[in-house]
Amino acid sequence: MKIVILSRKDSLYSSARLLEAARLRGHDVSIIDHLKCYVIMEQGNPSVHYEGKALEGVDAIIPRIGASVTFYGSAIVRQFELMGVFTANSSQGIVRSRDKLRAIQFLGSEGIGMPKTAFARQNVNVNDLISSVGGVPVVIKILEGTQGLGVVLAETKKAAKSVVEAFYSLGVNILIQEFIHEAKGADIRAFVVGNKVVGAMLRQGPEGEFRSNLHRGGSARVITLTPEEEETALRSAKLLDLNVAGVDMLQSKKGPLVMEVNSSPGLEGIEAATGVDIAASIIEFIELNAKNKKKKM
Ligand code: ADP
Repeated sequence: MKIVILSRKDSLYSSARLLEAARLRGHDVSIIDHLKCYVIMEQGNPSVHYEGKALEGVDAIIPRIGASVTFYGSAIVRQFELMGVFTANSSQGIVRSRDKLRAIQFLGSEGIGMPKTAFARQNVNVNDLISSVGGVPVVIKILEGTQGLGVVLAETKKAAKSVVEAFYSLGVNILIQEFIHEAKGADIRAFVVGNKVVGAMLRQGPEGEFRSNLHRGGSARVITLTPEEEETALRSAKLLDLNVAGVDMLQSKKGPLVMEVNSSPGLEGIEAATGVDIAASIIEFIELNAKNKKKKM
């Protein structure tokens, strides 16, 4: 098959691993920077161009679209979809999961467990907001934050108020969330491919840190998910229309609570922690599904 990995750099671990896995399985595969692609729209003939030429004969794409270029990247993915090319993740799924607020609004309404969360504008009474998620301690998060930056634990009402006011004065959107202390500074990443969780790890923050991000000094180890955790991860990915997803959950008294669903989950941490060849699972999934799609057409 002719497979294109849409990624900014071929030196990135995940892209390099996908390239290697696809080559090992005998595919004609390349990494193309989606920011250097452009689309041509005309009646009945959608196309994607790269380095002055139309990309032709592509059977499948694997989008690895960074958060800062979601709008442009998803437009390229959409164009491939319109050309009938199979995509590991749909443009709709990428857009849905990237809007963190929309994603948790939607997942919550579909019965997926999540920490109780408030979203409000500046003119709302902060004390009311804190009470509405169950009182202090609360976690305050910048909506557009990544890698644990902009995630603050406020243990007293006074601290929470100051942090909320500081963020509001900077004009950033924030979420105020119940603090799940049973999670003990750890979270779970379930890596979903198709209808399966192909690997799962527990990330634990360093001593005294409630954030478990590996970028914040956390460590990871393989875990076996409970049936409920597995079901939650699979349902969350499906609801957002993602075939390939990293579902982040907290373990709580109430069962698994989803924090976020990532449409371009990294392979490095999960492959190292689990020893599973996740890249090969993604390629295998494409082989099976891109073929089925062709048969149907
Ligand atoms: P980011 O997307 O920036 O990584 P997260 O929302 O995933 O931000 O939060 C970072 C980490 O903080 C999580 O991995 C988790 O360990 C911890 N955390 C986040 N929200 C909560 C919460 N409500 N209760 C307890 N711990 C939390």
